[in-house]
Amino acid sequence: MIPDLCHRAARDIAGAHHIVALTGAGISVESGIPPFRGPGGIWEKLDPMEYAHIDAFMRDPGRVWRVLIADMKTLLDQARPNDAHMGLVRLERMGKLKTIITQNVDGLHQAAGSHDVIEFHGNFAWQRCLACGRRISTTDVEMAEMPPRCSCGGILRPECVFFGEMIEPVNLSRSRDAAARCDVMLVVGTSAMVQPAALMPTIARQAGATVIEINFEPTPLTGQVAHYSLLGEAGATFNAILAALEREFQGDRKG
Ligand code: NAD
Ligand code: ZN
Repeated sequence: MIPDLCHRAARDIAGAHHIVALTGAGISVESGIPPFRGPGGIWEKLDPMEYAHIDAFMRDPGRVWRVLIADMKTLLDQARPNDAHMGLVRLERMGKLKTIITQNVDGLHQAAGSHDVIEFHGNFAWQRCLACGRRISTTDVEMAEMPPRCSCGGILRPECVFFGEMIEPVNLSRSRDAAARCDVMLVVGTSAMVQPAALMPTIARQAGATVIEINFEPTPLTGQVAHYSLLGEAGATFNAILAALEREFQGDRKG
């Protein structure tokens, strides 16, 4: 079943000219960053509304820093791109992949070498002072005091979009445009539960694109918005698709 679907995905990619990828936390699991939902997800231990909602942060920033953000910083300081991030870079170098819309805040697509990355939910690489607006690189944040503070005494917050906050309008409009323009959309490691990111595959499909899902388990897109779904780990699945794609291209060149 999976080898057939890998072959089908390779064939669709070979025929595509403008691929857009939508990625979620699942693509970074093999880099050691746990997702929010699903097995091993952070929400098995924590209530999202108590920690990842902007109201929770404003009520008690020290608590959110201690429980959620400090761990995130430790994980992200060590995380490196995996085969799935690299697979997307390879598709870009082939001239196939044009844009990545990511819900992730880990910066791993850019670290891998992807060029056009829309960070739908912002980026964890920077912190902003709530008092003076100064931006500080997350790696430079002094963690001795919780919550960490700017030199002016203001509290620092990550430049990520918390639940309850608006998506940057430019990110939303660029994502919609990218989704409407692609001929293949690869949806990788997203539970498709967080709106409006989860709408992008629907926009792509309505505009005539083939929607291919890669996920560890079925999602609300499976058998609905996705034309077909490859169920498995993102890195291994990318490697299998790319191996099939190289065979396909060789076939084309010979044929
Ligand atoms: P999610 O946590 O809701 O879902 C993750 C999905 O990935 C699940 O469907 C799961 O089955 C799948 N998955 C798990 N391991 C996988 C693997 N090895 N290969 C393929 N798929 C795998 O993530 P989401 O849909 O991105 O949405 C939730 C929000 O979580 C996002 O807004 C994002 O900002 C935030 N988040 C980001 C990071 C990060 O930056 N790495 C980490 C956790 C959460
Ligand atoms: Zn400040």
